[in-house]
Amino acid sequence: MKILAPVKRVVDYKVKVRVKSDNSGVDIANAKMSMNPFDGIAVEEAVRLKEAGVATEVIAVSAGVAQAQETLRTALAIGADRAILIESNEDLQPLAVAKLLKALVDREQPQVVILGKQAIDDDSNQTGQMLAALANLPQATFASKVVVADGKAIMSREVDGGAETLSLKLPAVVTTDLRLNEPRYVTLPNIMKAKKKPPETLKPEDLGVDVTPRLKTLKFAEPPRRSAGTKVPDVKTLVEKLKTDVKVL
Ligand code: AMP
Repeated sequence: MKILAPVKRVVDYKVKVRVKSDNSGVDIANAKMSMNPFDGIAVEEAVRLKEAGVATEVIAVSAGVAQAQETLRTALAIGADRAILIESNEDLQPLAVAKLLKALVDREQPQVVILGKQAIDDDSNQTGQMLAALANLPQATFASKVVVADGKAIMSREVDGGAETLSLKLPAVVTTDLRLNEPRYVTLPNIMKAKKKPPETLKPEDLGVDVTPRLKTLKFAEPPRRSAGTKVPDVKTLVEKLKTDVKVL
């Protein structure tokens, strides 16, 4: 059983990005880039399924600029068997990525596609859902537990006030929540070994997909600054202020 794990190269979660002075986007020149954290969880889960003898092959795929090879290397270092880079310098929006992944699903026929629930750069939370629709596959989003057996995936997802358990007939699309697992530490020797496995490189045209952006971002803006706090002399004044000044939302 094959598992396809799409991984996105994004600005590292520790980097504080700034809006460009012309409000046209965020300045990521020279910023540290890493694998989207939810995708690390997805690759870890896929590799655990392989280690448990449930899956036979884990294929990592990334769509984006040539440097996304580094992201794929991280996936190989976690334990993926094979990597595919769909190289493009275009601004790849979720629908375009979903179409590219659909073409790969047709080619590779994985039983499970496991994606992150969202990319931390655009926070779209759309690609997995769009892929499931395009490929006509059942989907379960925000997985906090996944068990694959007997042609089914049983997964739990956190919902308001509890947990929901779903059964999906394979093949299926699953997206990962933060609590699904804690990805293993990627060691330097494993990264070095991954360098010996260059990814297969495709272009969107090879998959017959038009990735022209459909959405235009009009502007980016910083969130409003918090106004400065004030000091109060004693608890009595604090309680008074809380009563009069604080608005309960
Ligand atoms: P999004 O819909 O952009 O929030 O992304 C959700 C998930 O789709 C990510 O966590 C990745 O697993 C996958 N994904 C999004 N963009 C890409 C990309 N360019 N290459 C590979 N996977 C992607």
